[in-house]
Amino acid sequence: NSKAIATPSRTKDILKKFGFSFKKSLGQNFIIDVNVMKNIVEQAGIGSSTGVIEIGPGIGALTEQLAQRADRVVAFEIDQRLIPVLKETLSPYENVTVIHQDILKANIPEVIDEQFTEQQEIKVVANLPYYITTPILMNLLMARIPVSSITVMIQKEVAERMSAKPKTKEYGSLTIAIQYYTESQIVMNVPKSVFMPQPNVNSAVLQLKMRSNPPVEVKDETFFFELVQASFGQRRKTLMNNLIRHFKGKLDKSNIVEVLAQSNIDGSRRGESLTIEEFATLANTFIDKQN
Ligand code: SAM
Repeated sequence: NSKAIATPSRTKDILKKFGFSFKKSLGQNFIIDVNVMKNIVEQAGIGSSTGVIEIGPGIGALTEQLAQRADRVVAFEIDQRLIPVLKETLSPYENVTVIHQDILKANIPEVIDEQFTEQQEIKVVANLPYYITTPILMNLLMARIPVSSITVMIQKEVAERMSAKPKTKEYGSLTIAIQYYTESQIVMNVPKSVFMPQPNVNSAVLQLKMRSNPPVEVKDETFFFELVQASFGQRRKTLMNNLIRHFKGKLDKSNIVEVLAQSNIDGSRRGESLTIEEFATLANTFIDKQN
């Protein structure tokens, strides 16, 4: 069959042949537009030497387009029912490996060791299951898996939060977490009409380029992220009030006032006005004070 999987007619044929019914709980919304797929592959910058990790291949619609451009594709799929489907739909492609596993439980460094060559550039490309977008991305980033970029279709509002600028309503602790590890950018907006079944939310393709070093020097990462979270705790409260509330019983108000002054940050500001640099300064000043 020469017709692309990512077309309405071929998708319907495959679903019918295997008697497949969508599971909402697994975020199963398949793409039926081959141009959208080609655009994603183009934006991800996949070349003939690139190794690709895909999360959630579904019936192989994106996998197929990746396999035609990449050196090798390794795809993780949780749904057992899709394994025989993928075996058939991807049979023309010898450079694809499908692993039946929950991506949140996978040992990705081990898979990379086994499936890719040592010097190979590896990229993550996926149309993610939306119910676990944030855990999937944060897991990949915190494990510091050796990939150069992550290009993913996700819910538009989440993409906007992950790539937000300070002083916007989308800017929050998730923005800081993503920006600590990557440079993020929305590269495409995608209408609901290209999905089967159509989701209730709008979608966008977010690209994360891994930083070789964090943009700020942080003395204690755990404390840094705790402070960021505390600062955004209650959006309408001042930074000072959020910090006092969060560190109650651990730090005195006078301590917090002093650290803010030393960091040159006005405690009457809102958390959403602080840049990642200011959060780093603030966190490091707290740490210095404790030592
Ligand atoms: N790549 C296909 C496409 O673009 O048409 C399907 C994308 S669909 C939005 C998400 C896919 O992720 C589904 O195939 C679903 O079964 C799979 N999935 C859901 N949770 C998963 C998990 N924890 N690990 C791996 N795959 C998962």
